[in-house]
Amino acid sequence: MKSEVRELLTEELKDAYSAEKQALRCMQKVLRKVSDETLREGIQMHIEQTQVQIERVEQAMEKLNVRPGRKVCEAMRGLVEEVQNEIEEHSEKGPILDLVIVAGMQRIEHYEIAAYGTDIALAEALGETEVVELLSQTLEEEKQTDLKLTEVTKAIIPAALGEEEGKAAAHRARATGTHGTGVGPNAGRPRRA
Ligand code: FE
Ligand code: FE
Ligand code: FE
Repeated sequence: MKSEVRELLTEELKDAYSAEKQALRCMQKVLRKVSDETLREGIQMHIEQTQVQIERVEQAMEKLNVRPGRKVCEAMRGLVEEVQNEIEEHSEKGPILDLVIVAGMQRIEHYEIAAYGTDIALAEALGETEVVELLSQTLEEEKQTDLKLTEVTKAIIPAALGEEEGKAAAHRARATGTHGTGVGPNAGRPRRA
């Protein structure tokens, strides 16, 4: 029975290894699309943490005498694909796109938090204290990142609301031709009474 739990933990670690590597590539790609400075710094910091997290999973696997293998975390693949598709739908950089990015990043963090929660419990049950130690450090970083992302969201929202307002005002002005800039589709045309 205990060996089946050990087997489960090794499969989980292979999954985590794949998940972390996919998350890393995703964050590196996403970074170019970010406008908000705090968000950029946060993602940059988590990229650096994730590089260490990958090493920790490697160390945990070494302790258990397993090799990473070719296992692909399908859930992370889906999460990454989802955020990338969402980003493509927003060609304009700015607060709205930043919120799209945060939404995707936060989903990724929650998946990681869930996975490490289970993995730590399994390692504890098996008496693998070093593995528990390694994964607990990572879990703490994931939780902190999640909290920071929520903070960033709150900070970006006013600008996102402002951007919407601005767009709506510009749209109204174009539709009615009432603004006096002399540009736009209705510029110079006689206005109907
Ligand atoms: Fe991670
Ligand atoms: Fe997975
Ligand atoms: Fe993470």
